Amino acid sequence: MTDVSTMLQRIKDDKVKFIRLQFSDIQGQIKNVAIPEAQAEKAMTDGISFDGSSIEGFARIEESDMVLKPDLETYAVLPWRKDIVAARFICDVYMPDGTPFEGDPRYILKKVLKEAADMGYTFNTGPELEFFLFKMIDGKPSTEFKDQGGYFDLAPTDLAEDVRRDIVLALTDMGFDVEASHHEVAQSQHEIDFKYGDALKMADNVITFRFVAKTIALLNNLNATFMAKPVFGINGSGMHTNCSLSKNGENAFYDPDTPLQLSDVAMHFIAGVLSHSKSITRIANPTINSYKRLVPGYEAPVYISWSASNRTALIRVPAPRGKSTRVELRSPDPTCNPYLTFAAILAAGLEGMKKEMQPPAGAKQNIFALSEEERNLAHIDTLPGDLITANKYFMEDELLCNLFGKHVVSGIDDLARIEWDNFRTTVHPWEVEQYLSRY
Ligand code: GLU
Ligand code: MG
Ligand code: MG
Repeated sequence: MTDVSTMLQRIKDDKVKFIRLQFSDIQGQIKNVAIPEAQAEKAMTDGISFDGSSIEGFARIEESDMVLKPDLETYAVLPWRKDIVAARFICDVYMPDGTPFEGDPRYILKKVLKEAADMGYTFNTGPELEFFLFKMIDGKPSTEFKDQGGYFDLAPTDLAEDVRRDIVLALTDMGFDVEASHHEVAQSQHEIDFKYGDALKMADNVITFRFVAKTIALLNNLNATFMAKPVFGINGSGMHTNCSLSKNGENAFYDPDTPLQLSDVAMHFIAGVLSHSKSITRIANPTINSYKRLVPGYEAPVYISWSASNRTALIRVPAPRGKSTRVELRSPDPTCNPYLTFAAILAAGLEGMKKEMQPPAGAKQNIFALSEEERNLAHIDTLPGDLITANKYFMEDELLCNLFGKHVVSGIDDLARIEWDNFRTTVHPWEVEQYLSRY
């Protein structure tokens, strides 16, 4: 643990002039307040007050004074600010009386991580973020491809390679352990993978990653978008989330003595996540557009199933075992709030463990090749097909609603309804194309 005086020294050594205090709103968007370096000590000891009423899903007007306190472990210098050095901290949000703000997504994740810790477990996640790099045209984001590359392609097809490299360099400077970066399946689509770690740090990494990718892309006159399905007819972008639990430093999902080398803990965890998968979808796939990704044919999941052998399932168990044993939830997309998504997955998994739930038989075959009748016979259910349906499942999910608390739950419900109503009442180009001349 870093203490305040060590941190102050580091800020001085790094010649930091401005500090950005960052936190996440209910949608997982980074908010930030910049303070001059002279305020650093006050921020680290007393915290900095701000008006919570202007933040999406935060406070009502009458309880709007809130306090940001930096988590000292999240200090990083922003590598692209060369002239005047700026650093950032990710913050926890408190009420003026010093109690944690129950609407802070980071606090919600910490609550369930504490529950896991009380049971002896550390929850690790490894999110894999995909994104597109599109051209900016006349200063505005577009969906025009920057490159025509495909999976694992190299330059010269991959013109965006330099930009991806710059993103990786910036992330590395900020302390990320980047393991791999590559061109994804679709034109202009990319993936950068960083080393897994405890879920709080990984959620911090996800919001940082999005902010860094967007910043570096813009410096190169490109728009990095994490929108789930920006272009019809090609793959969308996922944020596959690898999950594992460790206990006393050992991987708790690994058991060499079972046929699949998966422990009872792993099986219960899988069962718990499957049983809450419809409501988790509301959190892991939070936009109207998210549901255009969750359709057959584009490597995204649709059916509620798990498998040790194929990628068509919602939960896949990647081949490595031993300390790398993990389960990969394939539904989340990179528009999600990572704090709430990891919190929801863990809460569901822990419930599976407490109730010793067993998953149904794993899917051995390509689920997309099955007929509806075959799926029914195999009891393979389907993920919600749109935001408002997913929202309904979430609102009925006592476990998740209790964990998130009424503040966040009503914010999530409002956001879904507003977005759905806007979408529902808008006349889309598809409708005009279909009906204008036919009727
Ligand atoms: N882009 C795919 C998705 O929407 C995933 C491709 C992959 O397996 O990495 O989830
Ligand atoms: Mg991928
Ligand atoms: Mg994956």
